[in-house]
Amino acid sequence: DCLFCKIIHKEIPSEIIYQDADLTIFKDINPAAPVHLLIVPNQHLAFVSEMEPGDEVLLGKMFSGAKIAAEMNGIDQTGYRLIINNGPDAHQEVLHFHMHLLGGGKMRHPMG
Ligand code: 5GP
Ligand code: ZN
Repeated sequence: DCLFCKIIHKEIPSEIIYQDADLTIFKDINPAAPVHLLIVPNQHLAFVSEMEPGDEVLLGKMFSGAKIAAEMNGIDQTGYRLIINNGPDAHQEVLHFHMHLLGGGKMRHPMG
C-alpha cells in the first residue's frame, strides 16, 4: 500500500522518464526546481536504516541513474543537487526510500 510502489508498478500514473530492473525515475508532481526528478529503487525499502549488506550496489545504481537523468535533461554540465530526506526531522513524506534530483537553475546554498 505504498504510493511509490504503485507508481513503479504503473498502478497509478506518473511521468516516468527512465525505468530498468533496479530503478524507476519519474517527475516530481510538485516540482521545487525546473528539473525535479525522483530516483526510486524498485525494491521497497522505507528508510536508510532498513538497508542490508548487499544494498550498496543498489545505491551505486541510483547514482548512475542520476547521471543518466541529468544527461537526458541537459543539466549534466550546469549542475544539480541530489537530496535524500530520511525520517521525520528531514520531512520525509513518502516512506519509500528515494533520491531527489534538482536542477535547471541556480539554487541557494543549502548550508548557508
Ligand atoms: P520526500 O519529502 O518524501 O523526500 O519527497 C516526496 C516527494 O514526492 C515530494 O517532493 C512530492 O512532491 C512527491 N510526490 C508525492 N506524491 C506524488 C505523486 O503522486 N506523484 C509524483 N510524481 N510525486 C509525488
Ligand atoms: Zn514502496
